[in-house]
Amino acid sequence: MINNLIRPEFKTFVPYTANQVPYRVKLDANESPFDLPMSVRKKLADIIMNGPGLNLYPDTESIELRKTLSQYWGVDMEGIVVGTGSDQLIQVLVNTFVGKDDKVIFPTPSFGMYKIDTIIGGGSFIEVELKEENKFEYNIDEFIKKAKSESAKMIILCNPNNPTGNLLSLKDIEKICSMCQNTVIVLDEAYAEFAKESSASLLPKFENLIVLRTLSKAYGLAGIRCGYSLSGNKMAEEINKVKPPYNISSLSQLVAKLVFEAREEIDSQIKYLIGQRAYLEEELEKIDSVNVYPSGANYILVKLPNAKSVAKELEKRGILIRSYNDPVLSRYIRITVGNKEQNDILLKELKDIVK
Ligand SMILES: *Cc1c(COP(=O)(O)O)cnc(C)c1O
Repeated sequence: MINNLIRPEFKTFVPYTANQVPYRVKLDANESPFDLPMSVRKKLADIIMNGPGLNLYPDTESIELRKTLSQYWGVDMEGIVVGTGSDQLIQVLVNTFVGKDDKVIFPTPSFGMYKIDTIIGGGSFIEVELKEENKFEYNIDEFIKKAKSESAKMIILCNPNNPTGNLLSLKDIEKICSMCQNTVIVLDEAYAEFAKESSASLLPKFENLIVLRTLSKAYGLAGIRCGYSLSGNKMAEEINKVKPPYNISSLSQLVAKLVFEAREEIDSQIKYLIGQRAYLEEELEKIDSVNVYPSGANYILVKLPNAKSVAKELEKRGILIRSYNDPVLSRYIRITVGNKEQNDILLKELKDIVK
């Protein structure tokens, strides 16, 4: 009976699950190896001991957090919307702009939620293939051409792209924003702290641009579920009409603000991880039969023979990395950059498996 009641487009969906096996080293979800800074823990403990006010609903507008973010970015707080992870904002954005039969364009391979959220929202999608033979590089002209010929409502670009790690240039982003002024351009910058530049500098120029950021990756706060969008104020006003009320818990808002104020520590963590990325790339390249893709993020895509069975064998040895069922990506694994100790364990075991 239920099977006949569910919307037909969801019949083939499977619930999202995460690998729950016991592990020694977790390098499968692009999380930070750094837990909450000690200085932040102390402040948080103090607040909790002195009445955190959890009997009340949170600030539905996340004013304090948005003030902190607005100072950091030098933009009006009216242009910032906070979400339960940037995941929630992707869905909110699709629901804000994409109606029945409206078209959304995004790359493949890329982050899986773009497609799922478009289907849930009732829109239709067009995937632009990032070609393996071009090392998965973006060809921005293809996106522009498709957007025009299909009168797309929205284009979602992931920069750096997950899982391939490659980057779009600021020039390409500027080009697509100016060539597609009747299309909402969403730039998912979940990993931009590990790259050189953010497209946020383009926001004053383009009303159609929305930049998504998250605290889950470089900020080490995947556990609090907090992300935000940067855009012009008019755009944010429309997004706020669709954003669920009270979507960020008081504790998440508080921790996010405290961590943002402890930026120096976060900045040195980011520097450290960029160094570890170079180390890991270099060491992986020394392994015969392993092909390393350059990355602007905190993960590295690696092509190797029998990727699936290598992933299984790593898991048996307590090391989690990401593998794929997709036909192209099934020959790859994605390794999150961990701390030196984690990276060395991974390298040792991987060398042992593929030798
Ligand atoms: C991890 C990730 C996100 C989502 O992060 P949240 O935890 O929901 O903030 C968004 N986009 C990409 C590409 C990601 O990899």
